[in-house]
Amino acid sequence: MAPFYANRSCDPFMPVDSPCQIGAYVRYAINVTEPADIIAGIKFAKKNNVRLVIRNTGHDFFGKSSGPGSLSLWTHHLKDIEYIPEYKSEAYHGPALKVGAGVQGIEAFTVADKNGVVVVGGVCSSIGIAGGYTQGGGHSILMGKYGLGADQTLEFEVVTGEGKHVNASKTENTDLYWALSGGGGGTYGVVTSMTVKAHKDAPMTVASYSFRTSTDGASMDKFYDALDFLHQMAPGYFDRGGYSANVYSKGSLPFGGFFGSEWTKEDTAALFQPWVERLESLGLQYSLNITEYPSYFSAYSSINGIATIGASQLGGRIIPKDTLLNKRAQFNQVIKNIVEDGAFMIEVVAHPTLEVAGNPDNAVLPAWRDNAITLVLAAPFNDTVEWSQMLEDQKTITKWGGLLRELAPESGTYLNEADANEPNFQREFYGENYARLLCIKNRYDPTGIFYALTAVGSDAWAQSPDGRLCKTNP
Ligand SMILES: Cc1cc2nc3c(=O)[nH]c(=O)nc-3n(C[C@H](O)[C@H](O)[C@H](O)COP(=O)(O)OP(=O)(O)OC[C@H]3O[C@@H](n4cnc5c(N)ncnc54)[C@H](O)[C@@H]3O)c2cc1C
Repeated sequence: MAPFYANRSCDPFMPVDSPCQIGAYVRYAINVTEPADIIAGIKFAKKNNVRLVIRNTGHDFFGKSSGPGSLSLWTHHLKDIEYIPEYKSEAYHGPALKVGAGVQGIEAFTVADKNGVVVVGGVCSSIGIAGGYTQGGGHSILMGKYGLGADQTLEFEVVTGEGKHVNASKTENTDLYWALSGGGGGTYGVVTSMTVKAHKDAPMTVASYSFRTSTDGASMDKFYDALDFLHQMAPGYFDRGGYSANVYSKGSLPFGGFFGSEWTKEDTAALFQPWVERLESLGLQYSLNITEYPSYFSAYSSINGIATIGASQLGGRIIPKDTLLNKRAQFNQVIKNIVEDGAFMIEVVAHPTLEVAGNPDNAVLPAWRDNAITLVLAAPFNDTVEWSQMLEDQKTITKWGGLLRELAPESGTYLNEADANEPNFQREFYGENYARLLCIKNRYDPTGIFYALTAVGSDAWAQSPDGRLCKTNP
């Protein structure tokens, strides 16, 4: 039987009568409707020595919410949402939103919008906001204005690995609260609800842009020139809470989007004017459309649907401001090498502010605090070739990751959008927080019932070719 490191399981897009194996999918799921279901599931898994996973939307790129032969605690139907106009605690007084663990981004944004507020959530409308997103850090169109997703947390309700239903906040189980705010999903306990800060809504301007060239050498020089110009514009909008996303591959940037909360159309046009002049002087084909929206939700809805399904493998790195500004030539050269080698690139360009979030004491990877560009790289992945070839193909993304590590060695990688084979994931995904997170993991899940690839404590287990987990140091 082939191992399950890459997905070779039944594909929902294949004809129904084509033979396939369940492979890396979970075998059984408990449709969680209340904490008692989780407690019973944990008890059952321990008694019968069954692999257990916490599953919400299943969006995880590493398959952390799946596992061969496993039983899943499926939180998708925990859909309660409560708007709290005046949440009061010692640390925070203001509007908040309490969401069940199964609430997806779009559902939270819709309720927030109806109440004239916003909450920090991801670009993809179907991500589980209380699941891997906030627990993993969570970057957002709003991060330049309000901070990361994990910076917004006020409290969690959680079932621990010992089957206890507890609260975690700045005053109760404070270490668990700290870990759940950025230290990664799937390992400390099962969150059943989360309460986060909400912020007053504001108008937002969106600039959508694209450009392309042919792929001959001289044209590609112009392409990289236009891209470099775009990158160098970024620090100019960081202090005003701006965010942009660039999606590109060799010779083509088909989608770029800038989002400015409380930016006018005129402000945005002024920001882009020098770039337009540059593109015209280079003779590049481009488009630029700038639109003002009355609210975050209307601006957000204008871009919804950009995420597409495809077969690719992910990697990435957090590029600090210092690298962007002071190692410009090296940065451009590494980008060029990776793009020429066939990468599909997604960039999240924003600096997560601490002005509103304060200096939150949480488990977010410290490298996030210097972020200028979160690079997400995708390498095409062909799952119809021989297994040995698939394993070989996985090395491409790890090789690109090595180039980025050399460029910004002190930085790290966003644990949700990274290479599943990242060497030294403990340092790259969690930084100096790893040792403390591991103590918290062992305190709330002493038997290690929760396992997820690259999650804190996962190095205590190795997956055998048939998918079973064995202790690395029994
Ligand atoms: C199309 C797409 C776009 C994305 N865009 C963004 C973006 O804009 N910003 C960003 O920051 N990220 C983004 N991501 C990454 C996303 O945040 C992660 O994939 C995240 O892990 C998804 O969380 P989930 O709960 O929806 O998924 P799942 O796959 O269900 O779970 C992810 C992890 O969290 C754990 N988990 C889930 N629920 C719970 C729970 N209740 N308690 C404890 N652990 C739990 C799971 O065990 C697993 O380890 C994107 C992903 C996709 C696929």
